[in-house]
Amino acid sequence: MPERTPYIAANWKMHKTVAEAASFVDALLPRIAATQHDVVICAPFTALTAVVERRYGTAIKVAAQNMHEEGSGAYTGEVSAQMLVELDVEAVVLGHSERRQYFNETDEALAAKVPAALAAGLEPILCVGESEEARDADQTEAVLERQLQTDLAAVESSALAEIVIAYEPIWAIGTGRTATPEQAQEACAFIRDVLRERGAAADSVRILYGGSVKPANAAELLSQPDIDGALVGGASLDPDEFAQIVEAAG
Ligand code: PEP
Repeated sequence: MPERTPYIAANWKMHKTVAEAASFVDALLPRIAATQHDVVICAPFTALTAVVERRYGTAIKVAAQNMHEEGSGAYTGEVSAQMLVELDVEAVVLGHSERRQYFNETDEALAAKVPAALAAGLEPILCVGESEEARDADQTEAVLERQLQTDLAAVESSALAEIVIAYEPIWAIGTGRTATPEQAQEACAFIRDVLRERGAAADSVRILYGGSVKPANAAELLSQPDIDGALVGGASLDPDEFAQIVEAAG
């Protein structure tokens, strides 16, 4: 089985000015100097360059939180993959549930965004996850399968291993209600099975768990066999808490 390098991503959402982003990275770097993990900062567009400039020669990768699927055009307020690559951004979060919920991000749009990111050389961090109603109705696997099949429909099987998947149950995001390690493991193993059916190098794909990850629960979640990392929201805003989650990955 291939080694999967742990992947710990900070999703800052709409937090941190340029000055705040810079001081976060300055505080984080000494804390993660020895890490062998991928440490990813998903910054707002305005703070990307501040993080990029500080991360050269470190373990940090920089990700945006969204992008448009077209390379350019009359899409006021949008940013393309090429624009992100020009800033030396390396990855992009796609399909976060907040974008699906508040900005009408659809699986059909994601089916275009994921290949556009790959074509530009960005690593997509594709978020999938069920609502509380879907879980209660025993529809978790059906939702995950539909999201994965649609969002990845236009991606060549050979390219699937370049994608990071984040399993983020909506009911656990920002609520303080974490999935149990068993629930998170079960869903991540299911995601790997769906990828395997696509003929992907499913054992090489990093699958993250996201949803109220904190220093206190990170080690147990990250020790599950199919959980290769975490997408961290609230606890990623403080460099000390985020560094503890990086350390919890082993
Ligand atoms: C997220 O933003 O993707 C997230 C999981 O947030 P939180 O850790 O705050 O639940």
